Amino acid sequence: MKMINKVGIIGSGYSSMVAACCLAEKGINVTIYEKNEMPGGRASKFEAQGFTFDMGPSWYWMPEVFENFFNRFGKKSADFYNLERLDPGYQVFFGGGQKMSIPSDKKELLNLFESIEMGAAEKLEKFLSEAEYKYRVGIDEYVWKPGKSIFEFVDLKVFKSFLKLQMLSSVSSNVKALFKDKRLQQILEFPVLFLGSMPNRIPALYTLMNHADLTLGTWYPKGGMYKVTEAFYHLALSLGVNFKFNCEITGVKINEKKISRLISNDKSFDVDFVITGADYQHFDRSVLPNNYSNYSDSYWDKREMAPSSLLFFLGFNKELKGLEHHNLFFDTDFDEHASAIYENPKWPENPLFYICAPSKTDTSVAPKGHENLFALIPLAPGIKENEDLHQKYLNEIIERIELKTGTEIKQNLVYNKSFSISDFKSRYNAFKGNAYGLANTLKQTAILKPKFYNRHLKNLYYTGQLTVPGPGMPPAIISGQLVADQFLKNNNIKVNGQAFQPDFERV
Ligand SMILES: Cc1cc2nc3c(=O)[nH]c(=O)nc-3n(C[C@H](O)[C@H](O)[C@H](O)COP(=O)(O)OP(=O)(O)OC[C@H]3O[C@@H](n4cnc5c(N)ncnc54)[C@H](O)[C@@H]3O)c2cc1C
Repeated sequence: MKMINKVGIIGSGYSSMVAACCLAEKGINVTIYEKNEMPGGRASKFEAQGFTFDMGPSWYWMPEVFENFFNRFGKKSADFYNLERLDPGYQVFFGGGQKMSIPSDKKELLNLFESIEMGAAEKLEKFLSEAEYKYRVGIDEYVWKPGKSIFEFVDLKVFKSFLKLQMLSSVSSNVKALFKDKRLQQILEFPVLFLGSMPNRIPALYTLMNHADLTLGTWYPKGGMYKVTEAFYHLALSLGVNFKFNCEITGVKINEKKISRLISNDKSFDVDFVITGADYQHFDRSVLPNNYSNYSDSYWDKREMAPSSLLFFLGFNKELKGLEHHNLFFDTDFDEHASAIYENPKWPENPLFYICAPSKTDTSVAPKGHENLFALIPLAPGIKENEDLHQKYLNEIIERIELKTGTEIKQNLVYNKSFSISDFKSRYNAFKGNAYGLANTLKQTAILKPKFYNRHLKNLYYTGQLTVPGPGMPPAIISGQLVADQFLKNNNIKVNGQAFQPDFERV
């Protein structure tokens, strides 16, 4: 058995904290080094004027992924926070004054589809049953593959069901073949926007997201999404993980093809093994000496990054009628906005946007009689920005909310803060200011993703949204476990005197 005394984990995003918990539970000495002042990475929060703003994720999908992780430690999510299923899951505003609320009840959902397009209920049932099959294969098997080689997929249900999983057609072609109404198409295409690319570029395997959305439902942890971050943080502390905040790792010392010390400006720390959950490109190109990087600058320049975002954290001194907890403003041209992100990167005209109003279901996140709003406009990563542009888009968002809800709100804005590309770069070291990592296109899936291990250094693994399995909270939770299990297995860590075997033999 090799002696691994100290594991250093870079970053305190979900994947890092999850990996830390899995290793600490096996008695390994783990320290997390985080550049910012709090845990959570993109799932951070801040408070201002009585409002509590979540800074990143707001959609809690795939609750079983969270639950399975807590179960690994004999815990459940209810030990840390109270989850509530939202009903309606969300509301969509379309052009021409139309809107639609997505009910959590399956029968109501089928009736809604049928009321819009004859025969759509039956088609939706079939579509969702296929989505469920893909979800089960995808989430139980596919996402747990470390992506080392194509042989991981040989002889597996995944491989055998290749055609059924529709890896070679797109989400868009799958949806459009079944539903003709543009609104229904948009509802079924929207979940893959979380995967960082357009529905016509994402393999139809990912209609598994429709199962997550329409069948498993949209959930909310009372008190805000940061409750989940706190849960991971407290679990990690209880397992003995050490945290060093305000501690950016700026370099490494290498001895005999291993990282022996992590450097943070004028300090340095001994390590036997390193897992980095900081943005992959940043650690690979800016922290490691370049002859030890896994990938070159030109490799990274050719990657399709998921979009960045212009975010607004807004406080209003009145309740905003006509909004639900989650609101999608799909009232302008989707293709034009997509082209401004993916084809001809520029600031979009008439963008689509998303509004989260958590105070609609949770009075703890805003003062009484006030409303807490989080607005998100997807943007091409890396484009230039300035304060005037932020103001222009804030005005547009407010005008469109006023138009769609029929309520004047501009004069009720009492708190306003924006966060965008340069903030993603400076706060998280995000490549091109990306928000969600690497797009999950076919060319960037599974074995084609940046590898979880370093090819030159024997004691460095990568986790997080830029490696397997991809962007989002559930994938980050899976990524942290996957890399921790690889670590335990490959380093022959003994558990109760036996070599560690992952719960599922995933490799
Ligand atoms: C605006 C926004 C909305 C989102 N909405 C959703 C949603 O609704 N649902 C969902 O499931 N997902 C959502 N996501 C995606 C989800 O938040 C992320 O995929 C996930 O949190 C990423 O976790 P991670 O572990 O990969 O890393 P991160 O959260 O990115 O953490 C990386 C950490 O590394 C630290 N770090 C970087 N460099 C260094 C260094 N050199 N030294 C030390 N520390 C360093 C950073 O400060 C950061 O804390 C959203 C993301 C954003 C930005």
